[in-house]
Amino acid sequence: MTVEEVISILICPRCSSKLTAGKGYLECPRCGARYSIIDGRIVDFIGTEQGWIVFFERYPELYDPWSRIGWRLSGKGSLDSFYEKLIEGLDSGLLVDAGCGTGSLIAALEKRGYEGTPIGIDISLPMLRVAARKTKKAVFLRCSIERIPIIDGSIDHYISSLVLHILKDKKRAVNEISRILRNGGSVRIAVAVTDSFRGKVFNRLLGVYAIRSSEYMDLLRSMGIEILRTVDYGAFKALYGAKKTQRIGQE
Ligand SMILES: [Zn+2]
Repeated sequence: MTVEEVISILICPRCSSKLTAGKGYLECPRCGARYSIIDGRIVDFIGTEQGWIVFFERYPELYDPWSRIGWRLSGKGSLDSFYEKLIEGLDSGLLVDAGCGTGSLIAALEKRGYEGTPIGIDISLPMLRVAARKTKKAVFLRCSIERIPIIDGSIDHYISSLVLHILKDKKRAVNEISRILRNGGSVRIAVAVTDSFRGKVFNRLLGVYAIRSSEYMDLLRSMGIEILRTVDYGAFKALYGAKKTQRIGQE
């Protein structure tokens, strides 16, 4: 997959106009912004060298081993079986992995023979470079999950693993899920939750903004996402849902 193949669903994060392709960049005909294409498969919508955690920006190859240790200490079962369960049954369509990091979830999808197009989103360029090496056909967007440069109603599946609890205010990110998904599109989100004592301790130690699973669910429901089931992983929870299909004439 190349960036050119997904350009029809990409928009300028500054003015929401459709983009055109140049040599090694995408350009906004309306506001003139240019976004570089890196290694053929990453579009950089941020441009400046700044990321979320300075340490992992510098040593992105340490992120995967760290994830395994973190999961061993606070999760339930193996990290691989958690990934498998999160992508279970997904086999085609346009899929967004929000906060894809080093691309472990997309790599697992591809390994299982995913036939659609995975789009990985992350704010960290070093992480995305690792992700691009680890995967074959995914396209990556370096942007915020609070402002995704993708047109409304175009995505079939939104997945996000262990990201949403990092954000203090989750409203904009959740609103983006609902905005980019087509009606009936699926949502799978794994988050740190404070339901249990273990969850509360983990939340405090990492300094993340985890909330109770019922609060995540209320937030998702308020943005038109129906929750279908949940899976418990100790300090984490996976929420499975779908964007409600609106009937004609109803808002
Ligand atoms: Zn623009």
